Amino acid sequence: MSETSRLSIENLVKEYPSAGGVLRVLDGASLSANPGDSVAITGPSGSGKSTLLYIAGLLEPPTSGKVLLDGHEPWTLDALGQARFRNQQVGFVFQDHHLLPQCTVLENVLIPTIAASREAASATGSETRASQLLQRVGLQDRIHHRPAQLSGGERQRVAVCRALINQPKLLLADEPTGNLDRKTADVIGSLLLEVARESGAILICVTHSGELAERFPRRYELVDGKLVDVSK
Ligand code: ADP
Ligand code: MG
Repeated sequence: MSETSRLSIENLVKEYPSAGGVLRVLDGASLSANPGDSVAITGPSGSGKSTLLYIAGLLEPPTSGKVLLDGHEPWTLDALGQARFRNQQVGFVFQDHHLLPQCTVLENVLIPTIAASREAASATGSETRASQLLQRVGLQDRIHHRPAQLSGGERQRVAVCRALINQPKLLLADEPTGNLDRKTADVIGSLLLEVARESGAILICVTHSGELAERFPRRYELVDGKLVDVSK
C-alpha cells in the first residue's frame, strides 16, 4: 500500500460564533491513518465529533489546521475540485440513513455515480457494482424495494453500499448504529469493519457505543477539542 494514501489530520481548530463569544469546538485535533486502518472516535454529546468528521469529509471548513489525503490538501481545491473530492474520495454514513424515499434500493446506491458518471465507469458498470455491493450485504432480494419497505438495519446496509459505490479512500460514519437495536447495531458495526478492510479504505467511525468502539483496533476520545489515544 502506498505511503502517500495516508490520511493526516493536523492541528484542527474549529470555532463557531456564539452569543457568549466564540465557541472553540476543536482545539488542535490531530490524527493520522493508513489505508485499511479503522479508527473509532468517542466523546460526550457536543464534544465536536460530527464537526471533526465533517471537516475530514469536506462538508464543513476548519478555522485552521490541515487535512491531507494522498499528500494533497483537499481544502485548498476550488469548489469544483472539492465537490469532486467529496464525491470520489469520501463515503459518508449518517446516523439516519438519509436515503431518498422515492428511489429504490438500487437507485439509492447509484446516486453518487450520477455525479461521477462523466469521469468514471459506464452506467452499466456502476449498476453491476451496486448489485454486487447489495449482494455483499445480503440485500440482493431487496433491490427494488423502497426505503419505507425496509427495516432500520436494512436501510443502514443500503447507506453503507451507497457510501462505497465510488470506492472512496475515506469511509466516514457518524453514529451509524445510533438508531438501531443492539443486535442490528452489531451487524452494521461488523459490516462497516469488514467492508472497510476489504476495500482498503480508511474507516473513521464516531460512536456513543462503547461496545462498538471496543471492536476497533484504534480508539480515540475527543476531550477538550483534542483527540486522545485510548487504544489499549
Ligand atoms: P457531537 O457530534 O460530538 O455531539 P458536534 O460536532 O455536533 O458535537 O457539535 C459540537 C459543538 O458545536 C456543539 O456544542 C454544537 O452546539 C456546536 N455546533 C455544531 N455546529 C454548529 C454550527 N453550525 N454553529 C454553531 N455551533 C455549532
Ligand atoms: Mg454528532
